Amino acid sequence: MITFEAVRKQFPDGTVAVDDLDLELPTGRITVFVGPSGCGKTTSLRMINRMVEPTGGTIRIDGEDVRSKPPAALRRGIGYVIQHAGLFPHKTVIDNVLTVPRLVGRGRERTRALELLERVGLPEAFADRYPAQLSGGQQQRVGVARALAADPPVMLMDEPFSAVDPIVRQQLQEEFLRLQNDLGKTIALVTHDIDEAVVLGDRIAVFREGGHLAQVGSPQELLTEPADAFVRHFVGRDRGYRGLSFQGSEDLPLRPLDGVRLDEAGRPLDVEGTFRSGDSLRVVIDLTLTSPTGTAVQVDAEGRATGLVHHHDVVDLLEKRR
Ligand code: ADP
Ligand code: MG
Repeated sequence: MITFEAVRKQFPDGTVAVDDLDLELPTGRITVFVGPSGCGKTTSLRMINRMVEPTGGTIRIDGEDVRSKPPAALRRGIGYVIQHAGLFPHKTVIDNVLTVPRLVGRGRERTRALELLERVGLPEAFADRYPAQLSGGQQQRVGVARALAADPPVMLMDEPFSAVDPIVRQQLQEEFLRLQNDLGKTIALVTHDIDEAVVLGDRIAVFREGGHLAQVGSPQELLTEPADAFVRHFVGRDRGYRGLSFQGSEDLPLRPLDGVRLDEAGRPLDVEGTFRSGDSLRVVIDLTLTSPTGTAVQVDAEGRATGLVHHHDVVDLLEKRR
């Protein structure tokens, strides 16, 4: 668990980037920092690995003040991924991964680095290429592999998928969720994109101007119980999103049903509109809740909620059926 206790950062020029931040990031989960540009997300992230030192308050990892270790020691346990992967241009893909000190297993470093690259979706054929010979999305994959190389329990990710085009972004998000499903890292991920926050976040912290926290909660809580007009507008319920309707039997990528409250029959609460079950085993139906993020609830033949899907997938299916 990572905790922020009354954390404040005022830069020497007087700018208050983060003000009195209290926040808990649960172990093994993805906590997303989301909000408009300039509201203190990156600064908050960088205080965790001491790239920025707070001017007030305390940050702890598993109860231990991050200042109790020298920064270099602290950072061995914290992977860091940024928007433009930050690869060494003169090193090959595999050498970029191998720059991480203490990559496990003497003499097996190359094998281990290849395994990691494979896990992030880069087969061996890419190992000896240079970053300039990769697409943006592929560079981000290398960045993720490198951050994972030392097998750190904590990962900080600053807009890791923002620089890639929407289709690749969605693919990277899904692969990343699958990977995280296996790895169970404690992750803080920054994005300015509420759709991405809802897709990736187990828990979402909405920041607002001046480095204030507007609301913290599960994706569903933000969508259904926005704390104020700012959050309501930010998650898009002011924007008149209509939702989607779909019935079918296709398998769609699922994420866990975290944060959706269910009634006694296992039907999701907080959902405006109705859902009906069809003949097929897997059905996604009639959700006006879906919000701009288009998160839809998937239900089984008895109408029990079984998971969440992203509206892009539903739209894809509808397109294909036309
Ligand atoms: P975000 O990641 O949410 O876009 P940042 O954390 O980068 O926001 O920045 C928060 C605020 O702090 C902004 O007003 C920004 O201009 C300011 N800021 C960031 N870094 C510095 C710095 N090194 N010196 C002065 N102000 C800074
Ligand atoms: Mg930022």
